[in-house]
Amino acid sequence: MNLVFLGPPGAGKGTQAEKICAEYGLVQVSTGNILRRHKKLGTPIGIEADRIIADGNLVPDGLIIDMMKEELSKPYLKTGYILDGFPRTLPQAVALDEYLARKGETIDCTLVLNVETSELVKRISGRRTCRTCGRTFHLIYNPPIEPRDCEIGTCEIFQRADDSEEAVKNRLRIYAERTLPLIDYYSERKLAVPVDGSGSMDEVYARIKVILDKLLK
Ligand code: AMP
Repeated sequence: MNLVFLGPPGAGKGTQAEKICAEYGLVQVSTGNILRRHKKLGTPIGIEADRIIADGNLVPDGLIIDMMKEELSKPYLKTGYILDGFPRTLPQAVALDEYLARKGETIDCTLVLNVETSELVKRISGRRTCRTCGRTFHLIYNPPIEPRDCEIGTCEIFQRADDSEEAVKNRLRIYAERTLPLIDYYSERKLAVPVDGSGSMDEVYARIKVILDKLLK
């Protein structure tokens, strides 16, 4: 099963993808995490993307598409995956379809997580990320209690530069302009399924499970 998680920043794509992957044996492919890994390693991609990400802008399509083609060709994705944060623009969606078609593969479903803007801002302002493993937490909804929660070493919790108020406003505006049209794109292909992303993590998770279990029948 190959899935796309679509939704504004703060909708819970990453958190839900992580839980769904653990239960359904899928692999989470987060473009944000891949880019942050590049930054940490100081690669040319990381250097080019750093400022763009901190300001809450989108990294150029060409760079993202090349990076994702390389990622999607890796054997560890054979069991199925969730694309979390990709595609984010129409050219990216078209490039993804073309790439998968060449390999005889498809996206099975695009889950669209819908959350009120006021709730998104609340979620993002409390969001904290582990510098070591890249997992996200929330000061109120999902606090990082144990340092050993970290999957790699000891959690080093920080607030992402692009979670600042200014960057978040920019990211929400860009989402509306560049990513929202993807809902029509996937609806036309009968692949878009809306999910009410409000409420607790467990409530949203339960809604997603109902959709996926139906899909797997
Ligand atoms: P995320 O962790 O998914 O919120 O992504 C963090 C940042 O990485 C975004 O605000 C963008 O600057 C960049 N980014 C992630 N995915 C993409 C993408 N598909 N296209 C362009 N930029 C991206």
